Amino acid sequence: MFRKAVIVIVVLWLAHNFSVFGQQQDTAYQIPDNLMKQVKVEKTEAEWLEELGSEKYNILRQCSTEPPFTGKYYKHNAKGTYVCAGCGAELFGSDTKYESGSGWPSFFAAIGKDKIKEVLDTSYGMVRTEIKCANCDGHLGHVFTDGPPPTGLRYCVNSASIDFVPDAKD
Ligand SMILES: [Zn+2]
Repeated sequence: MFRKAVIVIVVLWLAHNFSVFGQQQDTAYQIPDNLMKQVKVEKTEAEWLEELGSEKYNILRQCSTEPPFTGKYYKHNAKGTYVCAGCGAELFGSDTKYESGSGWPSFFAAIGKDKIKEVLDTSYGMVRTEIKCANCDGHLGHVFTDGPPPTGLRYCVNSASIDFVPDAKD
């Protein structure tokens, strides 16, 4: 009687580990294609620091701000696309860039609302809306409501948070 029970238990244990549940586990870890596209860029802080260098790291990952009138894209009027310096996601088109007088690159719209994540920022005794890259969570700057038509928005962005990709010449 005891031996029979042991055999049954062993058989059940083998079935559990090597057939039914084993197969289910394999398929459970396959992420569907439509979810793969939403997976964000995730790296450790050490990996970001090594990849970005200290200046970009301090702004993109530590939410610092570059001094106004100093960034490389403050006075930059070429036609093209501004992409995230952290992950390369397309964020702003040059056709929405304008001179705001703030000293930072300014845009009245993002390429897509889903490209930018907005976060309430109450640091330094101010209530502001921080903008982050939706793909890698990199800090870009802030968005204000004193922008020009047609949106009335001013996306105020650190030059160090973006890279520029010029339009292909015909
Ligand atoms: Zn990014």
